[in-house]
Amino acid sequence: MLYHSTRGQSPSVDSAEAVLQGLAPDGGLYMPEKLPEFDWKDCLTGSSMDMSTKILSALLSDIPDMPRLVKRAYTGKFETEDLTPTVPVGDFGVLELFRGPTSAFKDVALSMLPQLLTAAKTVKGMDKDILILTATSGDTGKAALEGFHDVPGVRICVFYPDGGVSQVQRAQMVTQEGGNVAVCAVRGNFDDAQTGVKNIFAACQGKELPFALSSANSINIGRLAPQIMYYFRAYRDLLDAGKIQLGEEVNFSVPTGNFGDILAGYLAKLLGLPVGKLICASNANNVLTDFIRTGTYDRRRPLLKTASPSMDILVSSNLERLLYLLSGDTALVAKLMGQLNTEGSYTVPAEMLAKIQEQFWAAYCDDARAAEVMGRVYKELGYLCDPHTASGWAAAEDYVNRSGDSRPMVVLSTASPYKFPVAVLTAIGGDTSGSEFDQMARLSEITGVPVPKNLASLQGKAEKHTGVIAKDKMLEYVLNL
Ligand SMILES: *Cc1c(COP(=O)(O)O)cnc(C)c1O
Repeated sequence: MLYHSTRGQSPSVDSAEAVLQGLAPDGGLYMPEKLPEFDWKDCLTGSSMDMSTKILSALLSDIPDMPRLVKRAYTGKFETEDLTPTVPVGDFGVLELFRGPTSAFKDVALSMLPQLLTAAKTVKGMDKDILILTATSGDTGKAALEGFHDVPGVRICVFYPDGGVSQVQRAQMVTQEGGNVAVCAVRGNFDDAQTGVKNIFAACQGKELPFALSSANSINIGRLAPQIMYYFRAYRDLLDAGKIQLGEEVNFSVPTGNFGDILAGYLAKLLGLPVGKLICASNANNVLTDFIRTGTYDRRRPLLKTASPSMDILVSSNLERLLYLLSGDTALVAKLMGQLNTEGSYTVPAEMLAKIQEQFWAAYCDDARAAEVMGRVYKELGYLCDPHTASGWAAAEDYVNRSGDSRPMVVLSTASPYKFPVAVLTAIGGDTSGSEFDQMARLSEITGVPVPKNLASLQGKAEKHTGVIAKDKMLEYVLNL
């Protein structure tokens, strides 16, 4: 299947090549020229791995042997066999995406990406090593390291904002083992780290290097495509629970940062799944709320540090894919992205805004509201959620209250509450003294829910990667790897 760039200035490539390249040479993102015919009803049968296999075979048709790759990616790595269970909580379903090896939703995609990438390498007869370059606001880094460590023919380098991730997130990354990994803090915020990575891609373009660069961020279609599965899984779980009839529409509320997760939901809809509204939930960094309500994207504002750091983002890369999908106009997308780059803002044409609002609704939630939600959901419904999930819950409530839409609502839960123990303890009225490890233990005592093994075992592990560099030294760091 052929993929082309959202900006229209790069040659079309097959799906294996798109996964290998990550970002298109013109700076755009790869999208299928045409979405495949897809039997969505058939996709609802079988296990989560069967669903993944069907979706990935359809979208990445140049990568052979998908059943084997999917099995390798997921077998034995998640707490539950269905990978991403949906549990009923009050009036909503909560789609738990954090049951993987690093307790973050990114595990779903980053368990799969290494398999796709190494298979794509074989298809293309590439013998150079691939260097995965990743900027992380906390969760992607560890999930990528976990997916890629010791994968033959691949190396991985993760940059995270110094002081911009939680103690547990940092511990997860700096203790990473594996002979092919590098982890480094950057003085700056997540956007600085992400811009730094994009600049390295640009600087290395067309150069003869001992490795080929690729990305584990959701700009890579191989990262985005595996996320479509859990929308099908959740739909199937609602069917099995008798909450919906086949064909009935379901709304999803998605805690959003780079717009990858929610875009996967839109792709699920384009593949036929009966999805109603997609609710884009933000924290106090509410660029996307403003955009979806007004049509103007304006990143010229300070990046706020919040209790949901994985959503502290001003430039949501995957929005570009949505603009492309809704317009099919690569020249327009290239123009808007150019404006974002040079002026810091752009406004979409009125007809595009209308299309966006038909599919999406948006709301944001500050830390105080997230705390209120975590406290209330715990006290009234006995369910512990993390601050990211709380923003999704809050947006879902806002949407239902404003619209009166009575279609079933699924809130995506993107992180284990144990990854953000201070915020969660504060919200439920617990004592927050001590280290994050003490806090995790206390949270577990209060709630009776055990600390996920991967988090509990971090304490006392040796720190292997303690470097901190200036943001303008990232290229140099990579070239010296
Ligand atoms: C990455 C992340 C998000 C945002 O997902 P996007 O695909 O970037 O929109 C939300 N919550 C958590 C916990 C995350 O790690």
